[in-house]
Amino acid sequence: MCGFDGWYQDGVGPWDIENDPVTGPLQLRANWREHWPDSAWTSENGRHYHLCQNGCGIRLEEAACTGGRATCTERAVCDVCGQPYGELDSTGHTGTVQWTGKNGRGHVGTYSCCGAAVTQAHVWGGDAVCDVCGYDQRQEDQRGGTAAPGPTVGRAPATGDESGDVLFWTVLLTVSCAGLMAMIPGRRRNGGR
Ligand SMILES: [Zn+2]
Ligand SMILES: [Zn+2]
Ligand SMILES: [Zn+2]
Ligand SMILES: [Zn+2]
Repeated sequence: MCGFDGWYQDGVGPWDIENDPVTGPLQLRANWREHWPDSAWTSENGRHYHLCQNGCGIRLEEAACTGGRATCTERAVCDVCGQPYGELDSTGHTGTVQWTGKNGRGHVGTYSCCGAAVTQAHVWGGDAVCDVCGYDQRQEDQRGGTAAPGPTVGRAPATGDESGDVLFWTVLLTVSCAGLMAMIPGRRRNGGR
């Protein structure tokens, strides 16, 4: 029940207790009205209810909002009242990632939906090139690493006097690096003295 709605006399109707004349014993009934719920939902702080329009303040069928799914830009929409509720889901991305950079540890980019930054490890599809960003592990190693043995050996012929040595070094370039390095000291000692 919602609240007091006035006095009634059975078979007559509303009784104006101040103005209707009393001529004898009288039996009145206190009439209580039913709640009068608003047909529309009121949504507030993640809860929805039908507010009684009689002004009693009662919230009818009140319940927590439910259902729907939050994303990084939109709150979840309640299945019952149709209003957004709750918090954004910072991991519920709806857009795609635009990769904007890469380094030795991975590639970096931003989500098109919310602009959030994202870092991901490289994806090696069975080779040394990242399937996502094209980062080439071999190129980066050569650029940033110590000098390879090849160029060092290559300068040796330039300082030599005999053409025979040039031919010899050229042939040597085709052998493995390990074998080449092993032969250099011996060759220099014999030729120099
Ligand atoms: Zn009410
Ligand atoms: Zn709701
Ligand atoms: Zn997003
Ligand atoms: Zn990558």
